[in-house]
Amino acid sequence: MNTEPATDLHRLSFVMDLTLRQMDSKGTEELFYDVARGDLRFDPACPLCQARDSAVLTDVQLSGLNFFETSVCHRCLHVWRSISPGREWFQARWKQIASPGLGVFNPELEKARLARYHIYYALIRRYVASGRLLDIGAAYGTGVDFFRHRGFDVEALEVEDDRARYINERLGIVAHHSAVEDFKPSGPGFDVILFAHCLEHLDDPRLALSHVAQCLEPKRGLLYLEVPLPWALNDWGDALYMAHKHNFMEVGLDRLIRECGLTIVEKFAIPEPGMEADHLGMLLTRGDAYPTRPTRDNWLGGEPSLARITELYHLNMPHRARLAAGPIHYHVPYINNFFYIVRLRQGAFHAMAQANHFEFRRDAS
Ligand SMILES: [Zn+2]
Repeated sequence: MNTEPATDLHRLSFVMDLTLRQMDSKGTEELFYDVARGDLRFDPACPLCQARDSAVLTDVQLSGLNFFETSVCHRCLHVWRSISPGREWFQARWKQIASPGLGVFNPELEKARLARYHIYYALIRRYVASGRLLDIGAAYGTGVDFFRHRGFDVEALEVEDDRARYINERLGIVAHHSAVEDFKPSGPGFDVILFAHCLEHLDDPRLALSHVAQCLEPKRGLLYLEVPLPWALNDWGDALYMAHKHNFMEVGLDRLIRECGLTIVEKFAIPEPGMEADHLGMLLTRGDAYPTRPTRDNWLGGEPSLARITELYHLNMPHRARLAAGPIHYHVPYINNFFYIVRLRQGAFHAMAQANHFEFRRDAS
């Protein structure tokens, strides 16, 4: 086995590069985060189908503690973090980085966000053009403000302290500071709920989606759900991407939607600038007020297989070692970005003597 580290790393990983660029543009400071066994969630059963027949794809260890493990379900091919810091750990980290002022708004990121809400509005207004709207994971409220200006009666749900305060205080929009699963809506169900790029971040997608479904107006309420599909976005770097708890396969997500009492009205391929593949967008309802447009299985993602999924976790790896079958183990010296574990630099990636073990060294700089 050749353990020579690669020296010509133009990029480490597609998703990792994207995160590092975002950190740079936000001016995110480097902080170091502790993790202990008591912070961890252990989810050995598949969160989608409850099967216990699964395989570990990757794990990440800090001082011998396996704190981040990714598994694939042999029955339904769902990919999830079978070991990961739980929600409380992430909430404590958000508190840690919350700024006392409200000036963390990044105009460039918000511009990109606004472009997505233009798309959502065009899709939704063909069915519902006014009413009560809830934006889940509203960030700095750019999207929910956009819908307010188009005649919707809007509210936001945001789990991060400083963002919820920003929406309340700067925009004057009701922002509930709560996790999705704990949210207690007042009044009748919402006519529209936006739930884009959230489900993949949550510990228990079944609990979250069924709860969100119950917040919808039962007959004509529309839920807009959007998730990334792993096929063109993910590579080996997903093993270190703590922000995502799940990588959904389209067929598994369809089944979860049905089991949460929802019907798919329509599916959409939602483009993301700079990305080769589209995200999966869907309009969902609890009632039967809308005609549905059926699509074939795996309309956007293609047929998933164990081999295809395993291949993703080997893709673009910056090393020249030949890997054995079985889990890939990463050893990290610290967590200094709680979305991406390590802020990697060139030369930080080394193969260890044993097969399938890789070590990230502490940066000199
Ligand atoms: Zn499963």
